[in-house]
Amino acid sequence: MYKPDNVKTSPDFPIPDTMRAWVLGDPDQLTLTTKPVPVPKRAEVLVRIDAVAICATDLEIIHHGPPAMIQGGLPYNKNFTPGHEYMGTVAALGPGVDEYKIGDRVTVEIHAGCGQCKRCREGMYTACHNYGLNYGDVDKGHRANGFTTDGGFAEYAVNSINTLVPISDAMSDEEATLVVTAGTAMYGLTELGGLVAGESVVVTGPGPIGLLGVAVAKALGAHPVILTGTRDNRLKIGLELGADYVVNARNEDPVAAVRKLNGGKGVDYVVECSGAPEAVNEAARMVNRGGRICLAAFPGKPAEVDIAYIVRNNIYIYGIRGEGKSATHRAEAFMAQKRFDATKVHTHTFALEDLPTALKYARERIEDAIKVVVKTHGHAAIKSVAAE
Ligand SMILES: [Zn+2]
Ligand SMILES: [Zn+2]
Repeated sequence: MYKPDNVKTSPDFPIPDTMRAWVLGDPDQLTLTTKPVPVPKRAEVLVRIDAVAICATDLEIIHHGPPAMIQGGLPYNKNFTPGHEYMGTVAALGPGVDEYKIGDRVTVEIHAGCGQCKRCREGMYTACHNYGLNYGDVDKGHRANGFTTDGGFAEYAVNSINTLVPISDAMSDEEATLVVTAGTAMYGLTELGGLVAGESVVVTGPGPIGLLGVAVAKALGAHPVILTGTRDNRLKIGLELGADYVVNARNEDPVAAVRKLNGGKGVDYVVECSGAPEAVNEAARMVNRGGRICLAAFPGKPAEVDIAYIVRNNIYIYGIRGEGKSATHRAEAFMAQKRFDATKVHTHTFALEDLPTALKYARERIEDAIKVVVKTHGHAAIKSVAAE
């Protein structure tokens, strides 16, 4: 059995020496292998992974490589396990850890950062200046699960205690995997954006971040909250999550519709989650003068932007990477209070051994898949269960 030196384990929570883990070979090539269960160091715990959600960034990593960075380069053929939106149970404690107990249920932020650079010291650990520098003699201790260290498409993972978010027993495993997505929307709206109650928000693009962006904006007291997109079934979920209005961009000009819905002046914030090539120019015309555009998605190629319009109208534009400044804890607090039902974006569940099928569902949006979750144990029989 697993019993590394200086690591606290419990007889009530036996841990095997080895675990099942998916490993990335060449691009798009994943293999289910056996790895040793990893060992937590100081200020780290071992988490037994109970559920992991698939994110568009996982598909990027498996196909293109970045933003994963392993040993200073691409993540291929390095025994690397991707997967980053996971939750689970604390299974073992590294030296000195007394903040958590074995058996605690937690969901996990992705980025621990290095803890020593300028941005980490400011709480912007998702923009750590030492990203990926965690190997050889350039070891700055940076950690980002499933990006620069082994992630969640496995049975266990080591995590810095700084990345853990305790969750209540009332929250299901599937819902807990969505905390980090809601936390990303929270970070963009409040910590980076400065949203206060009563301001108006447009979300463009009803993917997981966009839909939970609507939910978080509404829970924060924004008004009105308008969602634009092209698929009616997703816009409907936006309404269920609190959007005051939805606009189908296939049926009407979204810029004209937004301006009309908000007294002709445009809104205070646009959270851009579509990644469409014209998105920034449209967002600039949806915000009012002095308004803010939060960029949470991007097109595959550089886009042409009408800078003169942005300058003349004093528009602020900022990108967000992930979920900094502990925004995830505040998102969890909203979800624990049932201020919105994040499970509305969870559509499918698969067993760990069916990961390739789960990825295919997420990639090809089979059966209108939005968030696809993989469960690590006790769910081998589940093939595809659409959420209510
Ligand atoms: Zn993600
Ligand atoms: Zn750092």
